[in-house]
Amino acid sequence: MSRTSNDAPPPLPEPLRVAVADSHTHLDLQAGTVEEGLAKAASVGVTTVVQVGCDVKGSRWAAETAAQYDNVHAAVALHPNEAPRIVLGDPDGWSRQGARAGGGEAALDEALAEIEALAALDHVKAVGETGLDYFRTGPEGMAAQERSFRAHIEIAKRQGKALVIHDREAHADVLRVLREEGAPERTVFHCYSGDAEMARECAAAGYYMSFAGTVTFKNAQPLRDALAVAPLELVLVETDAPYLTPAPYRGRPNAPYLIPLTVRAMAAVRGLDEDAMATALAANTARAFAY
Ligand SMILES: [Zn+2]
Ligand SMILES: [Zn+2]
Repeated sequence: MSRTSNDAPPPLPEPLRVAVADSHTHLDLQAGTVEEGLAKAASVGVTTVVQVGCDVKGSRWAAETAAQYDNVHAAVALHPNEAPRIVLGDPDGWSRQGARAGGGEAALDEALAEIEALAALDHVKAVGETGLDYFRTGPEGMAAQERSFRAHIEIAKRQGKALVIHDREAHADVLRVLREEGAPERTVFHCYSGDAEMARECAAAGYYMSFAGTVTFKNAQPLRDALAVAPLELVLVETDAPYLTPAPYRGRPNAPYLIPLTVRAMAAVRGLDEDAMATALAANTARAFAY
């Protein structure tokens, strides 16, 4: 009943007239097959997706899936919450791999070497998601997290790929590490969560800001203020599916086919018509990931 309808996939939105890309998704965590997910997305004008890996296994899968489908591009990395688990070990962690390793700095170096090998592949367009997450990782994991973040920045630069940033409650430190290391030419803040002031700082540095379903949430006015001041040519759209389902379906399973809801909300914030918004988003995503 109410539980059943909460778990049910939201209905197909009205199709976009101008096709866009979902710049950040996790197909491996969504219900149904990859073919089904891509077909459903394409039926509403979401014709391209960036599949993001969060550990070695998931990154391998992302690279393989991108090799298999022309309209899937891969990003590979150890998630900011994964790196500390590899170093510290965590029997209850989300990654069996990290738990198995539990092997200190050497295990992290080994995993990073695997990420770099994947990052070199043609179908892999980005290194990420990497960055800092102070929401889920406590003080004991911060050193490993920052070391991993810095290593990913180096890999992105060595391999000439985009960098995809995960920044959760760590804005100042993420910006600081990027400044200290020197950001790659193309850097994307996935699920952008800063305010207008930070958006101006990102814009000055030339960082892309990718907006997720959170921009549709009632309590997200600071995020809409950030979108309003971001240069249009630096704005992307994403689902981060299966998470962050846009309104009015918040709490139900997310998937790339729901991108039109977020595009329409973004167009309203920018005072643009939907087609102009979609045209900009499509061009920006292709430029950010160089596909
Ligand atoms: Zn993330
Ligand atoms: Zn993600």
